[in-house]
Amino acid sequence: MASLPNGHTAKKLDIVVVGGGLVGSLEALYLAKRGHRVRLYEYREDIRETPQARGRSINLALSIRGRRALKDVGLEQHMIENHGIPMVGRMIHKLDGTTYAIPYDARTNQCIYSVGRNYLNGMLLKESENYENVERYFNHKLIEANLKKGSLTFTKTDTKEEVKVNADLVIGADGAFSAVRKAMMKQPLFDYSQKYIEHGYLELCIPSNANGGFQMPANYLHIWPRGTFMMIALPNQDCSWTVTLFMPFTNFKKLDSKEKLLQFFEKYFPDSIPLIGKKKLIEDFFSGSPSPLVSVKCRPYNVDDKALIIGDAAHAVVPFYGQGMNAGFEDCTLLDQLMQKYKDDLPRVLEEFSDTRWKDTYAISDLAMYNYVEMRDLVTRPSYRIRKAFDDLIFWAFPNFWVPLYNSVTFTTMPYSKCVENRRWQNKVLFSVIVAFMIFTMFGLFYVRN
Ligand SMILES: Cc1cc2nc3c(=O)[nH]c(=O)nc-3n(C[C@H](O)[C@H](O)[C@H](O)COP(=O)(O)OP(=O)(O)OC[C@H]3O[C@@H](n4cnc5c(N)ncnc54)[C@H](O)[C@@H]3O)c2cc1C
Repeated sequence: MASLPNGHTAKKLDIVVVGGGLVGSLEALYLAKRGHRVRLYEYREDIRETPQARGRSINLALSIRGRRALKDVGLEQHMIENHGIPMVGRMIHKLDGTTYAIPYDARTNQCIYSVGRNYLNGMLLKESENYENVERYFNHKLIEANLKKGSLTFTKTDTKEEVKVNADLVIGADGAFSAVRKAMMKQPLFDYSQKYIEHGYLELCIPSNANGGFQMPANYLHIWPRGTFMMIALPNQDCSWTVTLFMPFTNFKKLDSKEKLLQFFEKYFPDSIPLIGKKKLIEDFFSGSPSPLVSVKCRPYNVDDKALIIGDAAHAVVPFYGQGMNAGFEDCTLLDQLMQKYKDDLPRVLEEFSDTRWKDTYAISDLAMYNYVEMRDLVTRPSYRIRKAFDDLIFWAFPNFWVPLYNSVTFTTMPYSKCVENRRWQNKVLFSVIVAFMIFTMFGLFYVRN
C-alpha cells in the first residue's frame, strides 16, 4: 500500500488530470504521492477491462527516462523484472535473410526494454487505487474547457450526460489530439505547428513457435531496413513479436491484393514470411489500415497557474527514437521536481516548466525525425558503421567525455537539447581530426617524394 506524503504543501490542491493513458496515469501517481486530490478523467473504458486492440503500438521501448519515473512511483523493478524484455541492440535483417547485430552499448551492455502498452497502463491505474486521494472516471470525454477558470465539461460516453468540474489545476495528458491543447490555442501568443509525415504504419504479428518460444533471438529490436521504408519487430511476453511496417501511404495503397502483398514480402522481407505465415500475413494486413504519424510542437505549455499540458498533448513525436512515452514520463518527473523545489507554488512551477521544457521536446522531436532515416537507410551504410565504431571506441576510452548520441538520449537523463549539442561538438572534433589527418598524410607523401 503506497503511503501518503508528509506535508509538502500548506494547502493540498484539487487537480484534474484529463487523459488516463500512460502519461496521465503516471502523473496521477506523482500528484497523489504529494498528497493532492487527483481526479483522473479518461475518454475510453478502463483499459484493464477492455484492452486496446489495434491502432496504437502494442508494445513500446522503455528506456532510462521512463524507468526513472517508474522508479519514483515504486514500479520500475516490477516492470523491468517481470514484464520487460531486454533488447541489447538492433538485429539487422538483410535482403538475403541473413542477420547481424549492432549492440546499443558494447561497453556496458545497457539495454532498452520492450513493454506492453496495455499492461503498463493497467499497472499504473491499478497502483492509483492504492491512493485514497485519486478518483478515476472512465468513459468521460472532455468537450469544453475554460482554462483560465479551471472549469471543464465532460460528456459521459455511455449516458451522454454532461458533467461540469472545477479544479485548482487542470493537467492535459490527453494525447496527440488533445482537447486541452485545443482550448489553449485560443490563448494569445500560443505557438503551434503539426506535421504529418508521408509514411504510415501497420502492425503485424509473428506468433510464438510450436513450443511456445520465440521464433527469433529475443533480446533485440529487429529491423528490416529497406531504404525508403522499413519493418521492425519488438518481442512480447507471450513470445510473439509485434511487427510494424513503416512505409509511404502511396506504397501501402499499391498493395491492394493478396498476390501483390506476397510478391512485395517475397522481394523485400523474404525471411519474415515463414515467421509470420502467409495466411496470417494476408489476414492481418488486410484487416487493418495504415495509421498516420503526427509530430506536434507547441508552447507555452501552461495557461497562468491554472492549466498545463504534458506528454503527447504537449509534444507528440514520431516513434523512431522510441522516446515519445519516455519523454512524457520525463515531463512528470520534471514537474514533480519543480513542485518539490517551489513547494507546490503553481505560478512558479508552471512558468518554469513551460520556459525550460520546450527546448528539449523540440530537440527530441527533430531527433525522432532524423532517426527514421538512420533506421530505414543509414544503418546499412558503411559510413554509419565506421562512425559508430569510432563513437564506440572513444566512448570506451573516455566514457565520461564522449557519450554517443543514441546512448545519451537512451541511457542518460541528459536534457535532449544537450544531447544534440554534444553531437554537434563531437562532429566538429571528428571533422577536424579527419582534416588534420588528410593534411598530415599529404605533407608526408610530399616529403617522401621529394
Ligand atoms: C507506432 C508507435 C510506436 C511507439 N513506440 C514508442 C516506443 O517504443 N517508446 C516510447 O517511448 N514511445 C513510443 N511511442 C509513443 C507513445 O505511444 C506515446 O508517446 C505515448 O502513448 C503518449 O502517452 P500520452 O499518455 O501522452 O498519450 P496517449 O497514450 O495518447 O493517451 C492519451 C489518453 O487521453 C485520452 N483522451 C483523449 N482525448 C480525450 C478527451 N477529450 N477527454 C478525455 N480523455 C481523452 C485517450 O483516450 C488516451 O487514453 C510510439 C507511438 C507509436 C504511434
